[in-house]
Formats: sequence, C-alpha cells, structure tokens
Amino acid sequence: MACKLCKLDRELKESHIIPKFMYKPIRDEKNRMRQLSLDKNQGNGKKYNLLQDGLKEYLLCLDCEKLLNSKYEQYFKKAWFDEKKLPDLLPNPEIKVTGLN
Ligand SMILES: [Zn+2]
Repeated sequence: MACKLCKLDRELKESHIIPKFMYKPIRDEKNRMRQLSLDKNQGNGKKYNLLQDGLKEYLLCLDCEKLLNSKYEQYFKKAWFDEKKLPDLLPNPEIKVTGLN
C-alpha cells in the first residue's frame, strides 16, 4: 500500500495517530488509559475499556515514521512537555508563544 506521506508503495508501519508521549498525563499507575464511548452498545456493558496503547493505523512507511518522529514529534515534545513553553492551563483563549523554531 502507498504511504500516506511520501505516496510510495512501501510496507506500512502501525503509526500512532497521536504521538505516544501525549498519553502520559492520562495514564494510571498501571500505565493504562480509559477509552470512553458514547455508544451504549459498545464495551459489553462497561462504561469504559482499559487500553495499554493509543490509536494506531497502518499509515506511513518506516522512513516517513522516522522523519516525523525526529523532525517534528521530538521537537514538539521538547517544547511542550520538557521546556514547558505553554502553561498546563491556558489563562486566556489567546496566548503568545515565543522561542519556537
Ligand atoms: Zn513514506
């Protein structure tokens, strides 16, 4: 199948829809997350499902996965989580962020 980014016909890898590090704040002590659903027929009567991993789809080839990770996701993680260029809660609907590449 064709990679969604480079459009080349290559083996596709399971790509996280949302980068894995983004789930860290919502994981419990056993590293699980709760998947909520508005569909009453889903989940076999349970109000939520416990997940170990985020949503993934076969979207990108290995080269494109590496490119997105090294060029964008790691930079975003560093700016957002590690350097905390944004507050945890936004005080206003608008905020000016400086110091980004
Ligand atoms: Zn690709």
